[in-house]
Amino acid sequence: MKEYKEEDYLMISGIQHYVFCKRQWALIHLEHQWEDNLRTVEGNIMHDRAHDGPTLETRGDKIISREMRVFSKHLGITGVCDVVEFVRDDLGDNSIMLFGKEGKFGVIPVEYKKGESKSGNEDRMQLIAQVLCLEEMLSTQIDYGYLYYGTTKRREKVAITTEERNEIHRIVEDMHRMFENKHTPKVKWSKACNACSLNNLCVPKLLKNRNVSKYIWDKVSEE
Ligand code: SF4
Repeated sequence: MKEYKEEDYLMISGIQHYVFCKRQWALIHLEHQWEDNLRTVEGNIMHDRAHDGPTLETRGDKIISREMRVFSKHLGITGVCDVVEFVRDDLGDNSIMLFGKEGKFGVIPVEYKKGESKSGNEDRMQLIAQVLCLEEMLSTQIDYGYLYYGTTKRREKVAITTEERNEIHRIVEDMHRMFENKHTPKVKWSKACNACSLNNLCVPKLLKNRNVSKYIWDKVSEE
C-alpha cells in the first residue's frame, strides 16, 4: 500500500473546503487566500474553545482526549481531532488497550461545528477522514463518531459506511493530484457561493458572466 512522505501530507481540515467547493480548497490551500466572514469567525471562536491545547481528562469510565493530532501515512493527511473519547468497553470487538490504563476502550471521535447540520456532506467527510487516521494509528476499527453542532448544542451520530470510506480515498487522491499539479479549478457558480467565505475574492458572478479583461476595460472607459 502507498505511503506518503510527511512533507506531502495535506490538512484534514481542507477536506471540508474541498467537498464544499474544489475551487475554494485550491484558493485556500494552493493560493493561500483566505477571508474571514462571520461564519468562519464564529467557527474559529468555537474551535478555540474546543482547542485549549492537548488535554486528557478522565470522567468515570471515559477518557477524553482534546486536540489530539492524527495522521494517515496511506492517505497522506494530518490534522487535529477536536475530541476523541476512549470509552471503557472490555468486551468490544474493536476495543484497544491504553498505556497505563486498566481494561479496554472503544474509540469515538467528536468533531465540533458551528451552526446546524448541513445538507452537504463536508462535515461527515472530515469526520470520516479523522476516523481513518485513528484506525491506522491505533490498529482498530471505528464504526461511528459524532458531529456536535453549536446552534443546536446536540451531537449527531455518524455511522462510518464502506461507501464513505471509499469516497474519502477518492477525494484525498484527487486533492493530492490537484496539489501536485497546482491546479485551481475555474468558477462554477452555485447557491453555495452565497455562503462562501471566499466570495469576495473569487467573485463567482463576475467571472461567470463576464470576461474579466473586458469588464475592467469597460470600467476604465466609463471614467
Ligand atoms: S465563491 Fe463559489 S466558486 Fe468561488 S470558491 Fe466560493 S463556492 Fe467556490
